[in-house]
Amino acid sequence: MSDKFDVIVIGAGPAGYHAAIRAAQLGLKTAVVDAFVGKDGKQALGGTCLNVGCIPSKALLDSSKQFYNLAHNLPVHGISVENAKVDLKTFIGRKEKIVKQFTGGVAQLFKANKITSFFGTGKLLKGNQVEVTGNDGARQTIAATNVILASGSVPIELPFAKFDGKNIIDNAGALELDAVPKRLGVIGAGVIGLELGSVWRRLGAEVTVIEALPEFLAVADADVAKVAAREFAKQGLDIKLNAKLNKAEVKKDGVHLVYTDKDGEQKLVVDKLLVAVGRRAYTAGLLADDTGVKLDERGRIVVDEHCHTGVDGVWAVGDAVRGPMLAHKGFEEGMAVAEWIAGKAGHVSYDTIPWVIYTEPEIAWAGKTEKQLKDEGVPYKVGTFPFAAIGRAVAMNEAVGQVKMIAHAETDRILGVHMVGPGVSELIAECVVAMEFKGSSEDLARIVHAHPTLSEAVHEAALSVDKRAIHKGN
Ligand code: FAD
Ligand code: NAD
Repeated sequence: MSDKFDVIVIGAGPAGYHAAIRAAQLGLKTAVVDAFVGKDGKQALGGTCLNVGCIPSKALLDSSKQFYNLAHNLPVHGISVENAKVDLKTFIGRKEKIVKQFTGGVAQLFKANKITSFFGTGKLLKGNQVEVTGNDGARQTIAATNVILASGSVPIELPFAKFDGKNIIDNAGALELDAVPKRLGVIGAGVIGLELGSVWRRLGAEVTVIEALPEFLAVADADVAKVAAREFAKQGLDIKLNAKLNKAEVKKDGVHLVYTDKDGEQKLVVDKLLVAVGRRAYTAGLLADDTGVKLDERGRIVVDEHCHTGVDGVWAVGDAVRGPMLAHKGFEEGMAVAEWIAGKAGHVSYDTIPWVIYTEPEIAWAGKTEKQLKDEGVPYKVGTFPFAAIGRAVAMNEAVGQVKMIAHAETDRILGVHMVGPGVSELIAECVVAMEFKGSSEDLARIVHAHPTLSEAVHEAALSVDKRAIHKGN
């Protein structure tokens, strides 16, 4: 057995690599074990997020947006480009370069922080030991005072539409198609379905999305979801709600789908089928039987509010535990655990975690939806402001959507902000800061916002809470 570490992290995704770097910064002798194999057969650090999630999806969203704008935005500016084409090899290759840059960046950061990196599968054994099995099958056991489990998540597979990596694909498959499918089927109108469905729709695929729930984007505020549904329909995303897939059969001419909607059984043939019905915590082979670490009914590692598993020195963070499956949630948990281990005051603000969906228009929110507040019986007031009345948005030809701010009816404290429109992925940060500082709509209304900027929509929405927006009727 090699020297004992202060901390071993299993999993080098966003949660794990943040935990490791922060632990090393705090002077703890740290090791990381990760099994992710990159395209070149070598270790690729950064987990789902850097390899097959956040970063590659945003790269393709940006590339496809440039192409879409050629036909749908530039003509309004008096600019026309004829016979524009997409070279898919370059399109996908650019994404791969970005992935390599960032996964390599994590390796550099490990080196700079003197973190020992093991390439292989880690299994927690009793007594805070970790058995590492390399890809060649070689085994070694390492030990630490603290072990942080950060094994992440994997896509949920439907038993009647199993992934084959070719015709029925998951997020990783949808990030590396070698041709634009003529017909793309997507199961699940959630975050991945909408983002990756948008990528291929913008390049010309006919995209049909089959969503089980009767309500579109039920996780978001209803007003935001309504605007988004209208805009996605205009872009040609055919979203079928209240539709349940019964069968997906791969035949010579495509994937034959049978689904049921309000009108009964329906049939659809697509060239590729992306199944994006959610993700589940990944813990296969992670825990020896006698570790004492528990899993909940959804297979997630059970932790308390400090990400502690209840087993001395064993912690868990990120997608593998309760809470939203977001990279930045994992970042914060990873850093907080390292600080708790070092005897410092770690902290995660779960109530103000922002959500962003990187479609066009973008969708972003933080805090409670109007429905949640209604259900909880909390008295509230609402201010809204449309991007159609924001000079900058009109100048950009992106004057779609609105900002909706919800404040407590008596204290005026901001309880939730819900946005759909241009640049809202960045605008939400201001609202999160205000909410984190327990700010009121009055606070935001009194802060000077530069003109002309998109942030004026936040300012006007704050004014609108008190019915004093300037550029609209109240
Ligand atoms: P992961 O990133 O899943 O990393 C876990 C790592 O642990 C992996 O490398 C895995 O190989 C390794 N591992 C697992 N078990 C073991 C073991 N026993 N031994 C060794 N190694 C092991 N979130 C956002 O916030 N913004 C976005 O824009 C966004 N876009 C996304 C787009 C897509 C297509 C997908 C799929 C996800 C996206 N997410 C996004 C979610 C985000 O990727 C996850 O929330 C995040 O990656 C979770 O981080 P993690 O560290 O918990 O786990
Ligand atoms: P999701 O939970 O966002 O959406 C899944 C959708 O599939 C839901 O609308 C659900 O009702 C539907 N569904 C479930 N079973 C179904 C079935 N049998 N038939 C039809 N529809 C069905 O999950 P996802 O899109 O797979 O993404 C997983 C997670 O990854 C997200 O929840 C999010 O946490 C993370 N993610 C985040 C971002 C981002 O932050 N921008 C981007 C991508 C992924």
